[in-house]
Amino acid sequence: MIVPEALAGLRLRGGVRPSRSYKRGRVCRQDGCSTKISIYNRRDYCNAHAPVNFPRVRGHIISKA
Ligand SMILES: [Zn+2]
Repeated sequence: MIVPEALAGLRLRGGVRPSRSYKRGRVCRQDGCSTKISIYNRRDYCNAHAPVNFPRVRGHIISKA
């Protein structure tokens, strides 16, 4: 029985438990942002700073230029 490397990698990265939860008490990595990140959120940033392709900020589009 062969275990795909992708699956093996996921298990290793999971760390403590093979469940879809992450470390508790994490905060957004954005400088100056202290928003807590849900343990179910695999991102390192809060919703406001997550690197998404379609920013959903009402009436205020943030430009990286
Ligand atoms: Zn943030």
